[in-house]
Amino acid sequence: MKESISKNQNSIWHPFTQSMLEQSPIHIAKGQGAYLYDMSDKRYLDLISSWWVNLHGHANSYIAKAIYDQAQTLEHVIFAGFTHQPAITLCNKISALLPSGSFKFFFSDNGSTAVEVALKIAYQFWLNNNTERNIFLSFEGGYHGDTFGAMSVGKDSKFHDNFRKLFFKVLTIPFPFTFSGDQEVEQKEQQSLEKLAYYLKEHGSNIAAFILEPLIQGASGMRICRPSFVEQVANLLKKYDILTIFDEIMTGFSRTGTLFAFEQIKCRPDIICLSKGLTGGFLPMALTIVDQKIHQAFLSHDHRKTFMHGHSYTANPLGCAAAIASLDLLLHKDTQGKIENIITIHAEALKLLTDISVINSTRQIGTIAAFDIDDAKIDIKAFKARSLEAGLLLRPLNNTVYLLPPYCILENDLVQAYNKIRKILIAMI
Ligand SMILES: *Cc1c(COP(=O)(O)O)cnc(C)c1O
Repeated sequence: MKESISKNQNSIWHPFTQSMLEQSPIHIAKGQGAYLYDMSDKRYLDLISSWWVNLHGHANSYIAKAIYDQAQTLEHVIFAGFTHQPAITLCNKISALLPSGSFKFFFSDNGSTAVEVALKIAYQFWLNNNTERNIFLSFEGGYHGDTFGAMSVGKDSKFHDNFRKLFFKVLTIPFPFTFSGDQEVEQKEQQSLEKLAYYLKEHGSNIAAFILEPLIQGASGMRICRPSFVEQVANLLKKYDILTIFDEIMTGFSRTGTLFAFEQIKCRPDIICLSKGLTGGFLPMALTIVDQKIHQAFLSHDHRKTFMHGHSYTANPLGCAAAIASLDLLLHKDTQGKIENIITIHAEALKLLTDISVINSTRQIGTIAAFDIDDAKIDIKAFKARSLEAGLLLRPLNNTVYLLPPYCILENDLVQAYNKIRKILIAMI
């Protein structure tokens, strides 16, 4: 065991990790349900669904079997000029869950590529219509991935500052972040809408699309806004024919309490990006779902109007099989019941946490709960270490602690997790 850890230290470069400052990684041997087990069999309750991907727990046997069966039939085939049943079935199943009217489904491998595809399609849509619109709009604090297009539209997320000089033109408007008991939400929304109106007046006919995380910004700290606000934004954009790209990479698959976040907003997105929970956390796969009217602009005898984009593993059949199985589980009434229970437990637990003096801005949307810790009084790194020690896998975003568990988490485990968090914080005050 020692040897494997030191080898890992020498050769593997971990994501978002400054190895000079951080503990060496915990070596995980296996997973089961909402738990991960390390090499000495210590278990950790995965309260962040392993970076928001896992829906039904680790090593779920139903999804594992679907992948196994598919691997014995067809593991992969080039997706240009060929198609296969798992891709067709998956798109039909998701199609049935979307607003009426038809959509086209473009496959890729991860959230960032789903966003790149969306941005490229939006830009080329205008070119194919013989106009050029070369500005994108997004929210301050929005996070859309780590490739160049995704970084450009997420330029104010603070993750990508080193690369700023290479970004294309993006305008951002303030995000009216709100929480329980917020007195200023209307004022914040008004400011944001005013800035949007100004940009639209100045640049409206040059803006290709607005990309946003609907209802909640994930990476910038689980920041929630009101659905009515997003609706107002969408209505303003319509006046200038600006395309709306809903990045539902985190919010999709019931995280916000509805299957997709857009269901809570009275508007029909032009493009939807899905990934993370798509395969239940088993395999990397993404979808960029595009309104038929946009696809129409790519149909031509002129080859230059073709969308020249694709990845080696586009629509990998194993990923599709995992996604179909995950969707079966998600739509099952047992899972929907578990989701309801998580929502209730979060709400009750957050209410109780508000009496701890170092906790602020408690907030919840569906199965996502978050609160801020006063980092003048509590060392967040020490909090994270103590949580791990107590068997809780949490990964605060700056001073924001959030719980985004797999839906299979046992009610009692979630309640106990909140009790442990409470005890740890009280001991640290
Ligand atoms: C995680 C995330 C992405 C990027 O997805 P990757 O698979 O990490 O590339 C994009 N948008 C949102 C909203 C995300 O949460």
